[in-house]
Formats: sequence, C-alpha cells, structure tokens
Amino acid sequence: MDTKITIVYDNCLSKEGLRTGWGFSSLIETEDAPALLFDTGSDGANLLYNMKQLSIDASSIGVIVISHGHFDHTGGLSDILEINKKAVIYVPASTAARIPGRKVVLVSQPVQISEAVFSTGELQGIEQSLAIKTTKGIVVMTGCSHPGVGTILDTASCHGRIYGIIGGLHGFHDFSRLDGLSLICPCHCTQHKSEIKRLFPEQHILCGAGCEIEL
Ligand SMILES: [Zn+2]
Ligand SMILES: [Zn+2]
Repeated sequence: MDTKITIVYDNCLSKEGLRTGWGFSSLIETEDAPALLFDTGSDGANLLYNMKQLSIDASSIGVIVISHGHFDHTGGLSDILEINKKAVIYVPASTAARIPGRKVVLVSQPVQISEAVFSTGELQGIEQSLAIKTTKGIVVMTGCSHPGVGTILDTASCHGRIYGIIGGLHGFHDFSRLDGLSLICPCHCTQHKSEIKRLFPEQHILCGAGCEIEL
C-alpha cells in the first residue's frame, strides 16, 4: 500500500457501527508523511467517535486541511484541536482563520503540503481541493466542489494524469468531464450520485463513513 484514504465522516454509511452526519471528512495516509485529515464534518463528537471506531489516533494527525469555511467541513475542527496539539492547519485564505497558538497556513496559491499531497490553491475565492500523487496517478480530493469539478480537475492536472476523484461534487452534471477516470467516488453533497453510478459502473465506488480506498 502506498496511499490509503479513509472516509471518516459522510452523509452516508459504509461500515456498520459508525455514525453518519451531514458533512465530510477523510483521512489520507501516504508513505513517509504524517496522516492528513481533510475536513472535519459538521459535528466534533461524531467525528471523534468514528475515528475511534476506525482506530485512527487523532493526536497523531500531522496536517489538517479545511477545504472551505462551511460548517459541514469545519464543525469538528475545535474538538479535534483539543486532542491534537501539533497539526499544521491549511485553510483557504478567504476564511482569514486564526487559531491562537496554532500554525495556520492561509492558502491562496497552489502549494505543496507533503511529499505526495498538493493543494490546488483557493479556487474561485471559496475552496481548495487536494491533488494526491499515487502510483496509479493523481487522485483529486474535494470538499463540496463549489468552484466546479471541471475547474478543479483542470487545476490538479498540472501534477500529472488524473486517476480518480473522491469527495463532494455538489450539483455537478457535466458528466463527460469524468470520462477517462478510473476511480469515481462521489460523496457527501453530490446531487447526482445515482446518475454517476449508472454512467460509470466500473469506476464508481460507493462512498460512506468507513469506506477505505487503497491505491
Ligand atoms: Zn459540504
Ligand atoms: Zn460547502
């Protein structure tokens, strides 16, 4: 395994015993880098509960990336920061977030976060996504895709061929933009989940809390 992605928090359920909630959070584990938490769901208690069930050590997370300032992505942040005292926090610059005593990186331009993980930068003044380098190609991780899936894919493609996309796709319906991808995992706020599954049955992965994707 080079890269492991675990959906920690989602509107839907993949694994018995976990909790669902409106929002999104995923854990990204890559070789030679501390675990990275992308978004924190809407409710800290449910986020920490799911982490415990998944045997994720919240205190060992090295980086927390917030895709955008909506409550369903930031809601669990204060709870996790009570347990985790060391993570560097990457937020879109427009949030102007400051957290006393913590290292907060305000992201506007594209930036490298770790050996294999890059931020697209804050797109359309609202949201950042991740481009994760894996042995299979670039996997894009989105929060809600408010800047538009096409814009996000175009920006992330500077790192190489896009292998897949995981995350909230909101009202995205320009489905031809997904042609050629090998992995499509629509999560959270994606409105056209069943249509995407019907169009891309081979590539589609059902998202939900507890879903694990190894690359
Ligand atoms: Zn959302
Ligand atoms: Zn949103």
